[in-house]
Amino acid sequence: MNGRVLIVGQGLAGTALGLELEAAGIDCTIVSDGHATAASRVAAGLINPITGQRFARTWRVEELGPLAQAAYQRWETLLGVRLWHDLRLERRFRDAVERERAARRFAAGELAPFARALTDEALVLDGAARVDLPALLTAAAQRWRSSGRLREARAEAEEFVWPADGGEVRWRGEAFAAVICCTGHGALGRAWFAGSPFAAIKGQILTVRAAGLAADTVRHDGMWLIGERDGQGRVGATFERDREDLDATPAAREQLIAAARRLAGGEVEGGEQAAGVRLALPDRLPAIGWHSRRPGLGFFGALGSKGALWAPWLAQQWREVLLRDAAVPLEVAMTRFAL
Ligand SMILES: Cc1cc2nc3c(=O)[nH]c(=O)nc-3n(C[C@H](O)[C@H](O)[C@H](O)COP(=O)(O)OP(=O)(O)OC[C@H]3O[C@@H](n4cnc5c(N)ncnc54)[C@H](O)[C@@H]3O)c2cc1C
Repeated sequence: MNGRVLIVGQGLAGTALGLELEAAGIDCTIVSDGHATAASRVAAGLINPITGQRFARTWRVEELGPLAQAAYQRWETLLGVRLWHDLRLERRFRDAVERERAARRFAAGELAPFARALTDEALVLDGAARVDLPALLTAAAQRWRSSGRLREARAEAEEFVWPADGGEVRWRGEAFAAVICCTGHGALGRAWFAGSPFAAIKGQILTVRAAGLAADTVRHDGMWLIGERDGQGRVGATFERDREDLDATPAAREQLIAAARRLAGGEVEGGEQAAGVRLALPDRLPAIGWHSRRPGLGFFGALGSKGALWAPWLAQQWREVLLRDAAVPLEVAMTRFAL
């Protein structure tokens, strides 16, 4: 593909894509209406290799974990901010059934190389990390503001003029060979890709203070408590299906305080509460690829609860599509539901 790319939205997806295209020498412009409603602004950025009540491996984590770490470390150097924090993760058991299931899988070696130890209360995991997504978004916006790539505006559907015959797309007087929609749960992407079976899942988090909370540790039992500095961290996240408001609710605060107490094993003091909306697809995998009927329009999103792990790899897949017309891996292709 020759010509400029317009990335709409600068959450984690738009940021990863912009950095990857820039590094590959593809001319791109980013339009962003800021981060006030971005899920990436409230996400803990947790990468967890073993997830769920069944202690399943996160999809392709062996391959995508190291790839993500290398990408974030390149961006740390480029942007001059710390993004990657290795974590010690304790997966606490909720009941005897979970304990027994974990013990069985641990003994059979099914959780290698991530499971380091098993105690009566928890499975201790290596390979977990926290990515500082707000720091990534802020530093990338600053870079693109300085280089003139960033358009600080909200793009509206009616501003785009789509070519009838494979020519360039026009937006506010500028011409682009491709427009890639990275709007998270925003209305624009939902309208352009209206046939896709998206679900919106609201999540709330709370900053907390707790004695004994150590930096760069996470305790997880379905809810997580992350130590970001000694004595201080965040607890999350609620899982509220089909909710798209960003209200911080008293019920969620209660649930988050209870989880933090349980995980900290003592009193906690609640601080600032925030909400975001995750966009997800029924198979819980993300999606990239071209629109089936509108040439030049692409999608990057539905990152669910795992964007921190998946976004760097997906951005690299998009780079290959744009540079070499590579095929999108079927498991994450936007077209898979139509198929
Ligand atoms: C409470 C909570 C906790 C989470 N915890 C984790 C976690 O621990 N680990 C993990 O990997 N993931 C986590 N997630 C999920 C994570 O947030 C997502 O995977 C990822 O951040 C989504 O990134 P995105 O770029 O697709 O969307 P967003 O971050 O929502 O970004 C979309 C951007 O597009 C902009 N935009 C939208 N429409 C327009 C428009 N018309 N014009 C211009 N700009 C527009 C928005 O303002 C926004 O900045 C969590 C999510 C929530 C809500």
